[in-house]
Amino acid sequence: MNGGNAMLNTIHRQVVVVGAGAAGLTAAISAARNGAETLLIEYQGYLGGISSTLAWIGFHDQDYRQVVKGLPYEFIQRMWAAGQASPFELDIKCSSIISINNHYWKILAMQMVQEAGVQLMLHTQVVETLREGDRITGVIVEHKSGRQKITADVVIDCTGDGDVAARGGVAWEKGRTADGLVQAPTLVFRLGGLDRSEFIEGCKDPEINYREWIHPYPDLWEKTMKRIDQMQVIITGGFAGLMEKARLAGDYDVPQTRLVGVKTHQPDQFLVVSTRVLGLDPTSVESMTDAYTRLYQQVPDLMRFFKNWMPGGKETYLMEIAPMMGVRESRRIMGDYVLSANDIVNGREFDDVIALGGYHIDIHRPSGTWVDSKNVQTYDIPYRCLIAGDVEGLMMAGKCLSATHEGVASTRVIPICMAQGQAVGTAAALAVKAKKSPRDIDIRQLQNTLIDQGAELRQTLGGPDYEAIERIGQLPKDEPPTTGDADQASQTAQAWIK
Ligand SMILES: Cc1cc2nc3c(=O)[nH]c(=O)nc-3n(C[C@H](O)[C@H](O)[C@H](O)COP(=O)(O)OP(=O)(O)OC[C@H]3O[C@@H](n4cnc5c(N)ncnc54)[C@H](O)[C@@H]3O)c2cc1C
Repeated sequence: MNGGNAMLNTIHRQVVVVGAGAAGLTAAISAARNGAETLLIEYQGYLGGISSTLAWIGFHDQDYRQVVKGLPYEFIQRMWAAGQASPFELDIKCSSIISINNHYWKILAMQMVQEAGVQLMLHTQVVETLREGDRITGVIVEHKSGRQKITADVVIDCTGDGDVAARGGVAWEKGRTADGLVQAPTLVFRLGGLDRSEFIEGCKDPEINYREWIHPYPDLWEKTMKRIDQMQVIITGGFAGLMEKARLAGDYDVPQTRLVGVKTHQPDQFLVVSTRVLGLDPTSVESMTDAYTRLYQQVPDLMRFFKNWMPGGKETYLMEIAPMMGVRESRRIMGDYVLSANDIVNGREFDDVIALGGYHIDIHRPSGTWVDSKNVQTYDIPYRCLIAGDVEGLMMAGKCLSATHEGVASTRVIPICMAQGQAVGTAAALAVKAKKSPRDIDIRQLQNTLIDQGAELRQTLGGPDYEAIERIGQLPKDEPPTTGDADQASQTAQAWIK
């Protein structure tokens, strides 16, 4: 009989992806489709990570061009074919939103991983990183069968926490410059029983101000009101007055002054994204445990808010709490290039572009209330942001991309994480095939492969969608910073741009 800590046989795979969230599962499918023998390691018992609890935003840019295509779009097309997602709803702030059946997404993710021939290891945690000199050579995992050494030609860190990098002594950063605090996390939950018509009537009341971005601009308000009855998916970010009344009445005590959430395409469901704790350290077990304790206490407060104060909320009931806390930001791995707010706001182009983004900079304030936001131009994500600095053999994508606190606040949304995933998996496979370090592969070959496999890059991007701009409207590019109480350490949008 083996002891509990038995070291099992060492295995080798050409590409090992750690973390099966939006970024990791896309990376693994792409690596396998491009011919690499690929292993995907995931701590949970399902695929999708935090993406399996949310609606997806940011497939488009602020000119309503679809800037994320390729494998992420293939996922959506398969969700549509199965009748499990809404159409794209174009949106003035988030560019676009698509509401999915989150449970079906887990099923589809599993199907697509299997179709691609990816080997899976679930309920498996990476606990150590193997490093020989300046080369990352693999990982040690723990699972029910014991401990196991896994070596690889290329390891891809998609843990969202940069666990592989941190354990391998690779440089990382965490949080904002002023005090190292990360964006506020949220435990997402879903309510059923919403009266859609009453809810929409409430949204039409300017006093209620359901979405603060629109309110200051009468033309945008008018255009939105013309469409709202037909919208299948409605994003909220307001209701501040009602929340304050609820607070004074003792019904609500959450450090979030706006209702952040999504009226999903399922007619009576609402995704509540409004729980919140301040001061989380996502790499500390004490801090994570404390955050869960507080977040679970906030769910009944928000349920009360819906029942007693929200238009259409009287009959709402709790359907589901996300299986994991939504950590918006954790370790960011320092790569060969660090994407900044400046690059994103000004829509910088890079020769080594491997994905595009058009989502605004969206910081759920680490302290204070509500968010800091800055509109952006369509920007390039350079390949160098996927390559961990100062080592060979380690790449990354998703939340732990090489970017600043403000940069990752745009690149972190699901479609853009997936676009990075497609690029990193493809690059790893090309590196394996060419027997080269990922740093040395032919970037044109990578770009051409991505384009052949449907990805949108600068080379393929068309012009603005003028019809949509006219119909939906556009926020001014220099829109002033958001309302809510900015704390001292929150930078103003302009101060990010050096
Ligand atoms: C509350 C919240 C709301 C959001 N709302 C939206 C939204 O509406 N729309 C949108 O598009 N985006 C939204 N985002 C952003 C987006 O969902 C995430 O940034 C994105 O899904 C991150 O994907 P990822 O693959 O990088 O990380 P994750 O989804 O965090 O995946 C990481 C995976 O790695 C696994 N893992 C971690 N460590 C280890 C280890 N050591 N060993 C093995 N496995 C490990 C985890 O279990 C997890 O499955 C939201 C984020 C949050 C937190």
